[in-house]
Amino acid sequence: MSIRLTEDQAELKALIGSFMENEVKPQLRELDEKGDFPVALYKKAFDLGFHCLAIPEEYGGSGCDHTTMGILLEEIGHTDPGFAITILCTALALECVLIGGNEAQKKKVCDIIVPGGFGSFCLTEPGNGSDSVAMRTTYRRDGDSFVLNGSKCFVTNGQEAGVFIVFATKDRSLGAKGISAFIVEPGTPGLAVGKHEDKMGLRLSNTTDVALTDVRIPAENLLGEEGKGMRIALAGLDQGRLNNAAIATGICQAALDAAVDYAKQRESFGVPIIRHQAIQMMLADMAIQTEAARLLVYNGMQALDAGQRVSKEASMAKTFCGDSAVKVATDAVQVLGGYGYSKEYPVEKMMRDSKIFQIFEGTNQIQRVVIARTLEKE
Ligand SMILES: Cc1cc2nc3c(=O)[nH]c(=O)nc-3n(C[C@H](O)[C@H](O)[C@H](O)COP(=O)(O)OP(=O)(O)OC[C@H]3O[C@@H](n4cnc5c(N)ncnc54)[C@H](O)[C@@H]3O)c2cc1C
Repeated sequence: MSIRLTEDQAELKALIGSFMENEVKPQLRELDEKGDFPVALYKKAFDLGFHCLAIPEEYGGSGCDHTTMGILLEEIGHTDPGFAITILCTALALECVLIGGNEAQKKKVCDIIVPGGFGSFCLTEPGNGSDSVAMRTTYRRDGDSFVLNGSKCFVTNGQEAGVFIVFATKDRSLGAKGISAFIVEPGTPGLAVGKHEDKMGLRLSNTTDVALTDVRIPAENLLGEEGKGMRIALAGLDQGRLNNAAIATGICQAALDAAVDYAKQRESFGVPIIRHQAIQMMLADMAIQTEAARLLVYNGMQALDAGQRVSKEASMAKTFCGDSAVKVATDAVQVLGGYGYSKEYPVEKMMRDSKIFQIFEGTNQIQRVVIARTLEKE
């Protein structure tokens, strides 16, 4: 399978690449060190429509297909995966609404995001991440309202979210069938956004706790039907995992590029180190992993664009691309030797940024469980 970009895709990729190169890259080291959420920089990107790529045209977005979204997220992730994750999580929150919401809900959420809003997807809790069905955040119906109680953690974009998609259970004994999804707006009494996590990597992204104490929302904010929340989350995550894999591929490509550049210039024993067989083997394996990662992403994206269910493909891509990002970034540090370990060079950041791609949106252990279960069914 070869990936040839259409004229539109190439144009969009160039626009995004130039923004990342000119606006983000010059500040990257300082932003990474500070670990603050650079809201003004995001707003500049939003002015160019970065956050609206996945929004259908009828709701004011660019209406990009999944394949194009993958190309663009890889390009953003090549410069900064944290920047890309911020956009991915807004797209994930939105995707849940596009999957489960009615017309009024789709319009309402797109009207928040299109003018420059962030979205948050609130599934993980302090007591459960992988086992999300065991969630403790509850909801109950009270007249024309639902009342939510509980707490969520590791919420990307929590600090600035214009909309939260919150998953809660009516009764834990019902398992997945007890879980529903809700649209919650910031400023609703009882909703409190906690501290910004100080993270190893993805330091341009914002991650917070969200506490819900008697949060009363109108009944019309229920997404889809009661009991369908987990279905909505999992369908959203199929797309989310492919997007996640696209960003991890961006890390692979960036690490490979940095390693090849360095290996051509650095000399040892009278030759550039790229002529040493041990370095050649490492670079070749890094290139193979990068290309294979990309092919798995686009295989999944094209199936998604064709309207197929892609749980297995998304889990495969997420696992392989996340594992590859860690391996390729770590090997890039090795190619650069001592300089790879220094903050003067970009690869140590890539190594830190890569690790999370084996953890979030379902750890790579959980993805392997999903793949194996599908194999058993097939
Ligand atoms: C930077 C960042 C951003 C995030 N953004 C979001 C977000 O926007 N929204 C959101 O809802 N969540 C988010 N998360 C949460 C993330 O998805 C979870 O951390 C992840 O799903 C793992 O859950 P956990 O941390 O509770 O680990 P646990 O579930 O406690 O797992 C701990 C370890 O046990 C392993 N394990 C658990 N169960 C099994 C099993 N059955 N078989 C084999 N191994 C198993 C896991 O693979 C892992 O290695 C984010 C996390 C981070 C760090």
